[in-house]
Amino acid sequence: MTTGNLKSQLAGLVKLQALDSEIYALNNEKLAKPEEIRAMEASFEEKKQGLAALEKKVLDLLKQRKDFELELATKEEATKKLQGQLYALKTNKEYSTMLQQIQDSKADASVIEDKILQTFEQTDKIKAETEQEKQKIGGEEKVFLEQKKKAEIRIKEIDDRLAQLEAQRKQILPDIDQKILAQYERILANRDGLAIVTVKDNSCAGCNMFVPPQVINLINMYEHIITCEMCNRMLYVEE
Ligand SMILES: [Zn+2]
Repeated sequence: MTTGNLKSQLAGLVKLQALDSEIYALNNEKLAKPEEIRAMEASFEEKKQGLAALEKKVLDLLKQRKDFELELATKEEATKKLQGQLYALKTNKEYSTMLQQIQDSKADASVIEDKILQTFEQTDKIKAETEQEKQKIGGEEKVFLEQKKKAEIRIKEIDDRLAQLEAQRKQILPDIDQKILAQYERILANRDGLAIVTVKDNSCAGCNMFVPPQVINLINMYEHIITCEMCNRMLYVEE
């Protein structure tokens, strides 16, 4: 290979690298999108489950209240029955015992009434909480859907840009020697999408490793492709 030839080959690789760097960044951005959407969706779903739990609590309280109401009705029925029996009693002792029973039964009913009242208060509280939560989730759903839409639009933009870049890549490829291209693509795959880097201020722009002057001389001779000892990337010097 002649000197001029390798020089133009490297120039071709530098052009290719500009495209590949953008392709690499875009692919990374695109790959991260589904995970971003999933994370947003998961946090949103979690809140929806919280809301479902609140709604279940309201139903549980309703059931509890019905049980209490049934219990209260039974207790009131029993009180009435005792009161009915009261006048049939013959002795004072029987009478006062029965009165005590009636009082106890009424006290029991009063406790149940308090419990019913409490379920009403709790239900109101949880219903208010549910309403608040619903509004919050409604707002968050809007934000989530907007972000999801944005991500989808961005993915479409990326795909369009990637298609452009691939087309530009195809135009450059025929000018590059197969063996050199194979070496370049091997490094590209192993070194985060960066295969050829410039030497600036005596250091490799890929890994910042010091590049000795004699190596820079070798690069400028264009006899062989020179790679960085540290990161293995191809080196070139800007003119
Ligand atoms: Zn390096």
